[in-house]
Amino acid sequence: MAKKTNNRQKVIIVGGGLAGLTAALELAELGYDITLYESANHLGGKAASLKDNTVYDGDLKPVKNTIANRVQSDHGYHIFPLWYVNMRQLWQRIGLTADEVFEGGEYYGLQRGPAYQFTTPQPRNDRELFSLLDLVTREDDEVDDLTFRGFLYSRIYNDLDSVSLNQLFLNALSIPEYDISSRVVRNLFRQWMPVIKEKNWAGLKGPLGEVLIDKIHAAVVAAAKASGGAFTLKTGHTLQRIALDGDRPALTFSKLKNPVKAGDTPVILAIPPEVLRAMQTDELYTAEPAISKLNYLRSNQFGALDIYFKSKLPKIPIDHFDLVDSRFNLSAFDISQHWPVFTEKKKFDGTVLQFVAGSCKDLAGLSEQAFTRAMINEIVHYIPAATAKGIAYIVPHTNATQPLFVNDVGTWDYRPEPRGNIFFFAGDYVRNDTDVASMEGAVRSGMNVAEAVRTAHTPKTRPVQILEPLGYTKAQLAVMRRTKVIPGRVKIFLEYRLKELFDDL
Ligand SMILES: Cc1cc2nc3c(=O)[nH]c(=O)nc-3n(C[C@H](O)[C@H](O)[C@H](O)COP(=O)(O)OP(=O)(O)OC[C@H]3O[C@@H](n4cnc5c(N)ncnc54)[C@H](O)[C@@H]3O)c2cc1C
Repeated sequence: MAKKTNNRQKVIIVGGGLAGLTAALELAELGYDITLYESANHLGGKAASLKDNTVYDGDLKPVKNTIANRVQSDHGYHIFPLWYVNMRQLWQRIGLTADEVFEGGEYYGLQRGPAYQFTTPQPRNDRELFSLLDLVTREDDEVDDLTFRGFLYSRIYNDLDSVSLNQLFLNALSIPEYDISSRVVRNLFRQWMPVIKEKNWAGLKGPLGEVLIDKIHAAVVAAAKASGGAFTLKTGHTLQRIALDGDRPALTFSKLKNPVKAGDTPVILAIPPEVLRAMQTDELYTAEPAISKLNYLRSNQFGALDIYFKSKLPKIPIDHFDLVDSRFNLSAFDISQHWPVFTEKKKFDGTVLQFVAGSCKDLAGLSEQAFTRAMINEIVHYIPAATAKGIAYIVPHTNATQPLFVNDVGTWDYRPEPRGNIFFFAGDYVRNDTDVASMEGAVRSGMNVAEAVRTAHTPKTRPVQILEPLGYTKAQLAVMRRTKVIPGRVKIFLEYRLKELFDDL
């Protein structure tokens, strides 16, 4: 019997993180016939929530059948700044309600010591905030090859002691300023500055998997149905090898006996850079140079931990907070003040904090227990209740196998465009206007890749509605530079140097 055929445009997507899922949603709306392969048994990637976690008690002994085993646990808490325009548009499209979102306004620092002392970090002087104004008005060639710290120290009006911007802003993003490219920080603040005085970030009231990822998945299925397209999800399918069949890909997946030959079907690779570059072969080196360039990119472990404290801790703010000057660059968010399972269903009486470790390179290769012990040993200096007696349960996520792309200085040139020679690329590391590795970057990249596929394969369909980043026009930046930055530099320089001169006299 002849096989049924249809005229729908097909697409293969590999990777069901935010980037792959967003691409699927856009293409489903355009009527594509989508097959999405995902190695895990769930969707969401680094924005997923995990089930069946190993849960430990305060003595680091594994325990079962507790509330912590039943509540889904995020890879780490995620915050959504106000400038996440495409993510917030996506929330509306998938029907996320205002009740499911906590709009945060503050950002606190918890000081080391027994007193649970929370402070709001303040810039130590005007020069620091002025540095940001100076940075956002810079051209590409002035910031491309400089770390953010390099930029700050190269300012004639700054001195080495004055720079505490890392503490002020970048810890909130868990990005150390000695790593990050000043171009990325410039792009970040071009988007952030217009809304910085407003309530400028949000958290979700519930596990990311339930509140965000499941809803995007449902929206993809509904969109495919509505447009006459199709969506086939193959979880547990790991892409293991990419070969070429002529000049078209042949993809070997775990679970499938034969490689999937793509033929004319476009293939979107929405998997992390470290996974993709490990598939490099001699034939791909010349056929798809974007893959070998990934060797210039770096990813770091970004560990996390949930702690269920036996009792309510004093003074914990409703907003997220940084553990000031902590080893591992720790920050935390109190989900027991936000998630309905705790606030409405009252399934647990104590405080439940999610911690993220923005910098835990020296924990690489450690077992889950050793990782957990190292984290607790640091946390107890800030939260005295973090002892065997005070802790009911711990849910660790070393995230060792899912490191996060680091926006290092000089990496822009090596990041792929959405459209390569053979493949389409998506992910937080793929070039996009958001620039910084983040959920907005992943979502925007998913939209960009869908638009690239659409333009190449179904140009008569409607374009993908990608929102421009918040920010300033070139003309506004030029005016800002002439009227604020240049006079400000002169003023700060004179005040600062004259004071130094008088101090010396
Ligand atoms: C602890 C932590 C906290 C974070 N906090 C924030 C935050 O507060 N705000 C923010 O904006 N961002 C945050 N991020 C970053 C954000 O989660 C990521 O930038 C974003 O989720 C990346 O999405 P992605 O689709 O590009 O990649 P991924 O999420 O990595 O998706 C890739 C997908 O590909 C799958 N895959 C991998 N290999 C294969 C293979 N061989 N075959 C098939 N499938 C494969 C993976 O399972 C995964 O589902 C955080 C990240 C971490 C780890």
